[in-house]
Amino acid sequence: MKKSIILILAVIMLLTAFYFFTNEKKTLKEYQDDSGNIIYTSIYPLYELVKEIGGVDTDIAIEFVVPSGSEIHNYEPSPRSLALLENADIFLYIGTGLEPWAERIDVSLAASGVKTVELSKYLDLIRYDEERVEVHFHGKGERHHEEGHLHGIYDPHVWLDPLNMKKMAEIVKDELILLDPDKKEMYIDNYLNYLSRLEELERDFNILEKKKRDIIVVSHAAFGYLAERYGFRQLSLLGTTPHGEPTPGSLAEIIRMIRENEIEYIFVETLTDDRIVNVLIEETGVEALPLNPFLGLTAEELENGEDYFSIMRKNLTNLKKALVE
Ligand SMILES: [Zn+2]
Repeated sequence: MKKSIILILAVIMLLTAFYFFTNEKKTLKEYQDDSGNIIYTSIYPLYELVKEIGGVDTDIAIEFVVPSGSEIHNYEPSPRSLALLENADIFLYIGTGLEPWAERIDVSLAASGVKTVELSKYLDLIRYDEERVEVHFHGKGERHHEEGHLHGIYDPHVWLDPLNMKKMAEIVKDELILLDPDKKEMYIDNYLNYLSRLEELERDFNILEKKKRDIIVVSHAAFGYLAERYGFRQLSLLGTTPHGEPTPGSLAEIIRMIRENEIEYIFVETLTDDRIVNVLIEETGVEALPLNPFLGLTAEELENGEDYFSIMRKNLTNLKKALVE
């Protein structure tokens, strides 16, 4: 008798726990059934941007397609995750070759009633051939964009410049107001707050105007917009994607450039054990420093409360070492 009471109590407790667990976050289907709003972004940096301006306690479900921290350039979403985008009210992506899959489905999404926003259309883009980046060390030695590279002719790494983030924030604010005019005031408040934080970040970056050197060596040439603005060059080990390796000939060329320009640091995405980087350290005595292209956040970074601002300030600290100090 006693046993069965305990069993019943246990079942009730389990059911209660299950009820609360499943109710913690509404599913996308439920948002749709409640005629709630769903916003999809292609990549994590845009997700964070929409969250900042949309606010955390709104009824908007915000999702992103490319898993946080994944290699963005070669990512190809599954047909299932592409189908989910049809549920969205708004789909935001960078464009200009960063997410070829998004450009492919833009028209059909728009036809099924999704408001698609290609953010790069609103920005002043830098053309690769005008950019202060040397990418002839890519793969077999060809210039990266002559070998059917996924990048287009414009540099898509727009989010790594606070100035571009300011413009994108304004567009996101306008789209949110169109979607839910009742919350206009809140969106404007959030936007203005976000804007002032971006302006503060921009002011911090202006220290780069005092640069004493004007060349950095990077593993992934993702910082073209900052390079353009502050007048330094990126010498890229791997072209504009984190793939491929320099040939022995081009490696010798990089070593020559490092010595010639008395370069003390090389920038890598993460401080992982990389053969090429190790060769450069051994040959030239350079020190490897991380420069984070903010493709997303690891579980640990999320836990530590990292975001665009904290990552960018860490990037600035290291850029200062290479350029200013
Ligand atoms: Zn890239």
